[in-house]
Amino acid sequence: MTNSNSGGDVRLAGISKSYGSFTAVQPLDLTVPQGSFFALLGASGCGKTTTLRMIAGLEDPTTGTVFLGDRDVTDLPPYKRPVNTVFQSYALFPHLDIFENVAFGLRRRGVKSVKKQVGDMLDLVQLGDKAHRKPHQLSGGQQQRVAVARALINHPQVLLLDEPLGALDLKLRRQMQLELKRIQTEVGITFVHVTHDQEEAMTMADQVAVMNGGRVEQLGAPADLYENPRTTFVANFLGTSNLIAAEVAATGTDVVVTAGGAKLRLPADRCPGSPGTGTKLLVGVRPEKISLTHADDADSIAAGRNTVRGTIADTSFIGVSTQYVIDGPAGDGLQVYEQNVERDTRLVPGAEVVLHWNPAHTFGLDADQDIDAGTEEAA
Ligand code: ATP
Repeated sequence: MTNSNSGGDVRLAGISKSYGSFTAVQPLDLTVPQGSFFALLGASGCGKTTTLRMIAGLEDPTTGTVFLGDRDVTDLPPYKRPVNTVFQSYALFPHLDIFENVAFGLRRRGVKSVKKQVGDMLDLVQLGDKAHRKPHQLSGGQQQRVAVARALINHPQVLLLDEPLGALDLKLRRQMQLELKRIQTEVGITFVHVTHDQEEAMTMADQVAVMNGGRVEQLGAPADLYENPRTTFVANFLGTSNLIAAEVAATGTDVVVTAGGAKLRLPADRCPGSPGTGTKLLVGVRPEKISLTHADDADSIAAGRNTVRGTIADTSFIGVSTQYVIDGPAGDGLQVYEQNVERDTRLVPGAEVVLHWNPAHTFGLDADQDIDAGTEEAA
């Protein structure tokens, strides 16, 4: 991602927002590529809604410039910006039927023949057969689709979505995530989506900006953020990470570290900087990358894998997988997710186990950070 002027539909240059002495958004440079689905992801209060509202023109930035395409819109009122916003509360007109709700923007602009455009929009959101219902006769998910159709019919350059699925139950949320992604792909308009739900951001977005304390901690494609977190906040907020305090023992193509008496390896290019011997590091590995073997069978583990010993403290069966919590010299509360294929019945609380994984799946982080940043406990 660059901050150059080209190719971006939304470009924020040095944008910040302060309320008195409190800074809600630190000076921020951000380019949203044209036609992409972009998510601003973070916990409550991190500044994501304020950032979105500055793009919409609903909030004046304290410093900086908002560009839409090549146009500086910083001083334009919301209604003069080529953007539309869909909010969590659908804000449909209750007395108008679905057709008239969607036609609203066209009628306001004096467009006479609205039938074809409204029909196309309702087809896009798969509500063609509900045109003459009133909003209260639709489900929450259907109402939100009407809100999307009502915004898209204005052909905005950018569609802003502020927690649009927040009011829906989990199953409907999942359906609507796929539905919104389909709509975005079909219309090709840039979507900027604000959410606190990391799974939602990863499901839908091409690019995710993870925000924390008014700053963007890291920006990238979902898989890249997940596999290569650069901060403990991102490692813990996006899914779950096992972070182990370690010290560098040897360097080379692989870096060797000691952690709780164990020697672990990780690729040098997954370490921050070029850490020398004696440097403190946090080494991370995702729970699904780890295999569990009962200590009695430790000899069967292939050579060359990273291994850590421990005792099972807790297990939870969640259908598709079993989640284990393991305490040991490398750290307490290590998490392992094993698919439920062939379960070893000896893997119960109290059992001595070996955790092992491919060293290539290990990442390194600066030890100079809060190891718990971004976890639920830290929230
Ligand atoms: P949420 O998901 O809860 O909406 P958010 O990440 O979207 O959170 P913002 O709404 O952007 O966060 O708010 C960022 C910070 O700015 C919060 O600490 C909030 O209390 C503060 N804030 C927002 N609006 C105002 C205001 N008008 N006056 C003072 N402080 C404000």
